[in-house]
Amino acid sequence: MRHRSILWLMVFLIIKTLYTQPPPPTNPHIENVITEISSANIKATVEKLVSFGTRHSLSDTSSETKGIGAARRWIKSEFERYAKKSIGRMKVEFQEFLAPGSARVPYPAKIVNVIATLQPSNLIPTKSVPSSNRILIVSAHYDSRASNPLDSVSQAPGANDDGSGTALVLELARVFSKYEFDATIMFVAFAGEEQGLLGSRHFAAAAKEQGWHIEAVFNNDIVGNIHSGDGTIESTYVRLFSEAYSPIDTGTTFRLRNLLGLENDGSSRGLARYIKEIGERYVPNFGVKLIYRRDRFLRGGDHLPFHEQGFAAVRFTEAKENFDHQHQDVRTKSGISYGDLPEYMNFEYCAAIARINAATLASLAFAPVPPSNVRIMTRSLEYTTTLQWNKNAESDLAGYNILYRETTSPTWQHTLFTQDTAITLQVSKDDYFFGIQAVDRAGNASLYTIPLPLR
Ligand SMILES: [Zn+2]
Repeated sequence: MRHRSILWLMVFLIIKTLYTQPPPPTNPHIENVITEISSANIKATVEKLVSFGTRHSLSDTSSETKGIGAARRWIKSEFERYAKKSIGRMKVEFQEFLAPGSARVPYPAKIVNVIATLQPSNLIPTKSVPSSNRILIVSAHYDSRASNPLDSVSQAPGANDDGSGTALVLELARVFSKYEFDATIMFVAFAGEEQGLLGSRHFAAAAKEQGWHIEAVFNNDIVGNIHSGDGTIESTYVRLFSEAYSPIDTGTTFRLRNLLGLENDGSSRGLARYIKEIGERYVPNFGVKLIYRRDRFLRGGDHLPFHEQGFAAVRFTEAKENFDHQHQDVRTKSGISYGDLPEYMNFEYCAAIARINAATLASLAFAPVPPSNVRIMTRSLEYTTTLQWNKNAESDLAGYNILYRETTSPTWQHTLFTQDTAITLQVSKDDYFFGIQAVDRAGNASLYTIPLPLR
């Protein structure tokens, strides 16, 4: 009898220890996803996109082999090929609209985005994951341009801008279609980017109007070159652009941000910080360089319409750009070769950026929802910091990571794991910023929720 109770006590202690341990830092399913990303596939897609001659948004749409019409039908057919592996969970469609005349659209023109939507596993009734309408987007633009933005007939290969991003999106769709996630993932090829972000602006406005819960937008634009025009070579990191706050964060949000000193903790900046942390964990020997700016100096991309609607959205761009191979007619002048051709690209580099995207997108797609109602207690002046939050509902929840950093640190410096829904840290809230993420038993961590004061 006594032996039996000792045995039960031991079993209880083992189980308790197992469940109070922090979950593993990486998830083997995500490692598998990354391993499947192929630079050869990315190269083949870029070469196919270039074969359409031009993908200018106002180019021919009737030919089967040339122009943007043939290009979008081919992208759609590729998505449909991957969708066959998804057991009915991936839906492929065109999103069409009429763009009114503007500086870069001389006459109203039909613009067509190509979208593949992968539904979460919770639509398959055998899994006990709570229902979720979280949407994650990975995007690029498939349109291209020559030197003159209105030239819709000249050769405009757009291998790197943005065949590279489009190939990355297709490669992720191919790999992800075989897996089951806990969030909806949309793989989007926008048109009209070079005519003024037309496709993404339409998409983001429609999403806002329909109340979609878009948790993150990963935009990839110009992600396949390592040779700068200044002679330097850089293949060890990617730049990740994020703006701290959306222009719609005004009024109370603006005042609270200033009151709390949270000017570096808006949702797009928080997403960038998450991508750096998770991406570098899964893809060793490759870096994510945070750039505290909405985009390159005075330039823009398809993440901006989302950021401006209040969604967390960031842009990946190669470390070093080469302006001889962007927005240039294909030609040789004074011994210099111009034009955006595949021969100037590095597909291993593009694949590394695809792996960063894949790791962080999969991590978010497997993760629980971010903790809600996260508060800093402010009953009186204290030397410590007490945080509390609501319990998550997921059945596979392991607990929460409490993250904190000094006010001048770009990334989180300290992590504590807890299964509770409150914690007191022996540090002063005057000197640190805090964030809390929910973590499941496989180690997938949500985005961070920044605590607000409880008064
Ligand atoms: Zn571009």
